[in-house]
Amino acid sequence: MTTASWPRRAGNAVVGRYPERFEVYTERHLDRIPQLERLDPERRFAMRVVAQVLPFRVNRYVVEHLIDWERVPEDPLFQLTFPQPGMLAEEDFARIAALLRAGADRETLQQAVREVRAGLNPHPAGQQHHNVPWLDGRRLEGMQHKYRETVLFFPSQGQTCHSYCSFCFRWAQFVGDKSLRMASREAATLHRYLARHREVTDLLITGGDPLVMKAGNLREYLEPLADPHLEHVQTIRIGTKALTFWPQRFVTDPDADELLRLIERLARAGRHVALMAHYNHWRELETAIAREAIRRVRDAGAVIRSQGPLLAHINDDPAVWARLWRSQVKLGIVPYYMFVERDTGARRYFEVPLARAWEIYREAVQRVSGLGRTVRGPSMSAGPGKVEVQGVAEIGGERVFVLRFLQGRSPEWVQRPFFARYDERATWLDQLEPAFGEREFFFEAEYREICRRAETGGVWGA
Ligand SMILES: *Cc1c(COP(=O)(O)O)cnc(C)c1O
Ligand code: SF4
Repeated sequence: MTTASWPRRAGNAVVGRYPERFEVYTERHLDRIPQLERLDPERRFAMRVVAQVLPFRVNRYVVEHLIDWERVPEDPLFQLTFPQPGMLAEEDFARIAALLRAGADRETLQQAVREVRAGLNPHPAGQQHHNVPWLDGRRLEGMQHKYRETVLFFPSQGQTCHSYCSFCFRWAQFVGDKSLRMASREAATLHRYLARHREVTDLLITGGDPLVMKAGNLREYLEPLADPHLEHVQTIRIGTKALTFWPQRFVTDPDADELLRLIERLARAGRHVALMAHYNHWRELETAIAREAIRRVRDAGAVIRSQGPLLAHINDDPAVWARLWRSQVKLGIVPYYMFVERDTGARRYFEVPLARAWEIYREAVQRVSGLGRTVRGPSMSAGPGKVEVQGVAEIGGERVFVLRFLQGRSPEWVQRPFFARYDERATWLDQLEPAFGEREFFFEAEYREICRRAETGGVWGA
């Protein structure tokens, strides 16, 4: 396949035919991607090195229709999906590269890979331990109940994606280490937990990407939510990147219509169904099939809200975000969150200082109309909650970050401004110091207490 298949818009006409059959390439198939032949051997080898450590998976639609091979390696969609040399620390890279060059045996290589992975903070924000809910004295694996009104559910069949993002904070669960995997196959437990927790208004089905599941599987989780006894769960959100990575899911897949009918049934039962669509670049919205997928999801009665991290090499430019939000509003998508890249995996390659992240957010927001300004951020999903950088200010002669919780482990923390000493290079909450000579941020003592309680039982009672 040549670059001629990359769909260029000429008016409304789009050149190119989309694959209908899902075909995926992983680390073992790097040699079979013809487009990579244009890269020099050194770079191809570097991809193999990085792909030993971090997950790699891409499908033919992404390769043929999203990546602009004329612009590789800088192309943002290439950066989004393919392993890049700078993703590992030099010494880690050198170690894995040497083993590959020497043709090391599998066990030796795997041992080194495990050690490198362990150094990449595989579990940011205490994901695995701190937020697992309890029911009848039993921990419910595959669920998280961190914020009072929202329960996260990770169905076991939805713990992969149609393609992997090179920066994914869930990378640890994709690399095959089963102990890192958070998943549940128990639909009945989910529904029982929700029935007991009337404070829960939102269910967020997430992954991986739950829309890799067949409609029949999804139905087991979703259909009972239309039942009147679960009416307090008003909103059903589905986190997905299928609108980007495999829009065929909503258009030409054999069960595309069945999926849409399922959404429609929930919407007709009075539930707010929201696709929480992960987007990083306006180019993801350009193909005709991506637009058709968006149209069909909206026609089924779901709202599409968009969220995604700010990333060096992909979208650290206000013009990219402004165009993304403008395109989204035009297509009926509601911009929701701009995230700060998490403190895990290949963060060294993607991270953007908080001060710069705020500038990018502000400059981008200035360029869109009010309907695009529904987006909040830049927001850090950290242990205590979602913390937004509201801005940089000078107070009493001290330069500070103005911060606020968008979500907090305690609902009391939300919307209360607090201040950190300005630090040009800080990229995450744990690098910030309280301003005005205070010893701790206002929430820290209570957060320690909440963590202690969470060790022994659910945070939200029952
Ligand atoms: C972001 C998030 C939610 C949802 O928060 P909203 O502000 O309602 O979008 C729920 N649980 C966890 C763990 C989250 O990170
Ligand atoms: S779609 Fe989401 S879960 Fe899947 S690889 Fe990308 S960021 Fe990770």
